[in-house]
Amino acid sequence: MSSHRVGTGFDLHRLVAGRPCILGGIELDHPTGPSGHSDGDAVLHAVTDAVLGAAGADDIGTLFPDTDERWKGADSAALLEQAMKLVREAGFQLVNVDIVIATEGPRIAPVRAKMRERIAALLGVTSGEVNVKGKTLEGLGALADGAGVAVQAVCLLERS
Ligand code: MG
Repeated sequence: MSSHRVGTGFDLHRLVAGRPCILGGIELDHPTGPSGHSDGDAVLHAVTDAVLGAAGADDIGTLFPDTDERWKGADSAALLEQAMKLVREAGFQLVNVDIVIATEGPRIAPVRAKMRERIAALLGVTSGEVNVKGKTLEGLGALADGAGVAVQAVCLLERS
């Protein structure tokens, strides 16, 4: 049995007017924000699925279903903290997480350092263990007009 386990998470949300732009656990200054049953934080959703996946746990949609009124308007930071509790109870600790945010909505570079700090605090690690990269979409596809945000996250866990 290996002492290390890799996990991957992916999420996609529409960016719509009238929603706060909450991504990576922080609020960005942008005229549109992710739609969703919860606060729509696609970054934290992808990270949550990555850590749960690496631990062999159920995914975010199973643990926190969007049909459940308890999670309506939910703070995704609280969901990630609950997921990390499950991961620790399963006998794992986080080594690192690496995140790609693909969008032509909000610019990621100016908030990258703050986002790393915030995600690291939620995961109980230092910002050196959390990387965040923004990618634009070269004007290609349905996301390229700024209508959405797609996030990929990869993490490594080790047995504690
Ligand atoms: Mg989501």
